[in-house]
Amino acid sequence: MLEVTGLTARYGRAQILNGVSLDLKGHEVVALLGRNGAGKTTTMKCIMGLLETKTGEIRYDGQSLMKLPPHMICRAGLGYVPEERRIFPDLTVEENLEVGQRPAREDAPEWSREHLFELFPNLAERRSNLGKQLSGGEQQMLTIARTLMGNPKAVLLDEPSEGIAPVIVEQMARVIAELKSEGLSVLLSEQNLHFARAVSDRAIIIEKGAVVYEGGFDELDANPEISQQYLAV
Ligand code: ATP
Repeated sequence: MLEVTGLTARYGRAQILNGVSLDLKGHEVVALLGRNGAGKTTTMKCIMGLLETKTGEIRYDGQSLMKLPPHMICRAGLGYVPEERRIFPDLTVEENLEVGQRPAREDAPEWSREHLFELFPNLAERRSNLGKQLSGGEQQMLTIARTLMGNPKAVLLDEPSEGIAPVIVEQMARVIAELKSEGLSVLLSEQNLHFARAVSDRAIIIEKGAVVYEGGFDELDANPEISQQYLAV
């Protein structure tokens, strides 16, 4: 469904990605792991059309995304939740969700506000609160919920467990499982191996802008030297 082949990218003269290849199939949750600065965010930005200095190929549902602007990539069915929370602080939770609303797609689940409030009970309780009144974890949830209002087929989540309270991390895991059961695919950038293992079908590790491991978590557990070498464990 999503297929990245030989992706390179640079910031100015600094080469950051050196030929990343990965794929995400339908109904699959894949963890993109790697240390700080390994290139996870850059990979996601390239997929979403947010970085133009890239070469290689990115295909989604048979269509090349390489030359498409971000809004066309969203329209093709990809949703993106960046690491920094992007909410409107002076709009209420409900208004934030309205802003994210896009037409339904035939081939993806359609999300209503009420459906999202079932998935995110904390947000339901705070539906009339302003974005800026929410905790960091709730803002993270709201960013995800708003992205879902666009009715994507696949979502890219950049470090969803980063900097949020353990109880919210647990809720996040439940949300990701629910997205998968609704039929979405999820590519998840993570540094938290424990969280990644709990929610993902398989792992891809990148280091210095290249894939160094691709496989299951059992295999990773059986070979602890891989995690020691490439992850901050
Ligand atoms: P993190 O957990 O820190 O987000 P990451 O694996 O997502 O790590 P990237 O954010 O993709 O890593 O960063 C990869 C490299 O690109 C790092 O060396 C970083 O310093 C560099 N980099 C990121 N953004 C920029 C930028 N706007 N300009 C220049 N260099 C950048």
